[in-house]
Amino acid sequence: MSEPILKVENLNRYFGALHATRNVSFEIMEGEVRAIIGPNGAGKSTLMDLITNRTVPSSGKVLFRGDDITGLSPDKIVHKGMTKCFQISKLFTSLTVYENVQIARIEMNKKTFSLFPVHDRYLKEEVKRYLSLVGLESKMNEVAAYLSYGDQRRLDIAIALAMDPKLLILDEPAAGVAREEAYTLMQLIRKLAEERNMTIIFIEHDMDIVFNYADVISVLRDGELIASGTPEEIKENQYVQEAYLGG
Ligand code: ADP
Ligand code: MG
Repeated sequence: MSEPILKVENLNRYFGALHATRNVSFEIMEGEVRAIIGPNGAGKSTLMDLITNRTVPSSGKVLFRGDDITGLSPDKIVHKGMTKCFQISKLFTSLTVYENVQIARIEMNKKTFSLFPVHDRYLKEEVKRYLSLVGLESKMNEVAAYLSYGDQRRLDIAIALAMDPKLLILDEPAAGVAREEAYTLMQLIRKLAEERNMTIIFIEHDMDIVFNYADVISVLRDGELIASGTPEEIKENQYVQEAYLGG
């Protein structure tokens, strides 16, 4: 039996009078691929920001790998094994693919091996390993700005993987890429989850992708979690039918 890696308990967040997250509670099992769906403004991104503590909850708790991480700095949360994929806008576009991952890895190693600086050759092997996981090893000397959008997404994922996450959070990983590339990216994400026993949470609008790649789907509406279930269960949900599947 797998354990819940993440537990969210009665989370609330107000922005002034706006109740953006309404008493949300759920659990995610280790190794699970969870999709979060809901219309624009439903509170999906806010919920992810609360889980990673980029936004402070008005009330409620986040438990990760058995520890209460509510209020822990985003930096410490990364070191506990939870990484939210950086947006592409965070890439160092004038640096190479290799250098982008190297920076992330140096930051990680600094905190892990602060007394013993990591040997250059070891670092190089590490960086190459992360790049090969996403299929970018052959492009490691290319400047990030000149990559295709899909490859920038891959680089984004390689940087996140360089943080050695147990839980990886992706906000619309397939947004803006062609359908075929979106499927390739999602296959890569699923494969990483399976091979590395990584848990994934992804926000996604494309229902084909959601129904094909999620183990469990959670539906947010007006800040409230209105349903969670397998793709088969969620397909039967009345709200999902009306909002997404044309009644
Ligand atoms: P989603 O990601 O589902 O589209 P968001 O989580 O971005 O939704 O937003 C949920 C609601 O909270 C929206 O009404 C949005 O305008 C509001 N909101 C999000 N962030 C802030 C903020 N920093 N200040 C004020 N309102 C915000
Ligand atoms: Mg959003």
